Amino acid sequence: MEPAAESPRCPRCQTAATFATEPQVCPSCHKRFSIHPGPLVDRSLTPPPPDPQARRVRVRSHGVLLANAGVLEPESIQQGVLDPITGGVRLAEQTIVYPRVAAVAFWREIDPFGALAVVVLWLLAAALHDGFGLGVAVLAAWQTRRILWLKRWHALVLGPKGHAISVRFDRPWWNRKRFRQELLRRCGMPVNPMP
Ligand SMILES: [Zn+2]
Repeated sequence: MEPAAESPRCPRCQTAATFATEPQVCPSCHKRFSIHPGPLVDRSLTPPPPDPQARRVRVRSHGVLLANAGVLEPESIQQGVLDPITGGVRLAEQTIVYPRVAAVAFWREIDPFGALAVVVLWLLAAALHDGFGLGVAVLAAWQTRRILWLKRWHALVLGPKGHAISVRFDRPWWNRKRFRQELLRRCGMPVNPMP
């Protein structure tokens, strides 16, 4: 057994956890997350052979200057800075091949600045009584759904020897569910509910 298998942890506060098929609540930080063993530690899992025709699944989140990307290639998950031309990862910081995935954790997080913006929008909508106020209310409702209900989606993929890939995968929206399902499928892991 690899060390990662013996010590699954809460991805948010590093408190010791146990592998579970369902999402769990951390006893220490009280946040929800899920953590599942990968094929490196659970030998009953058999990742399917890499399919060279498999679609590349790409997610990204924007930093100050560059887009941080997570990409599912046919044989590995990669994380790094996105190449705007090829759509692949330029300057790959980490690569983990699917059979060497030790564990995958998922959680969702509220963006505090986004939450603040939602409050401001609702206050503004309440202060305006005309059609413009209605428009602001529609925008506020849309942003409330996005920021407080959908939240930001995060995945932590642990590989051998302390290798780890941390990726935010709620954007673009059409790859949100596909990224998670394809990651688990390519690792030979069952698809479980998102926390
Ligand atoms: Zn925790």
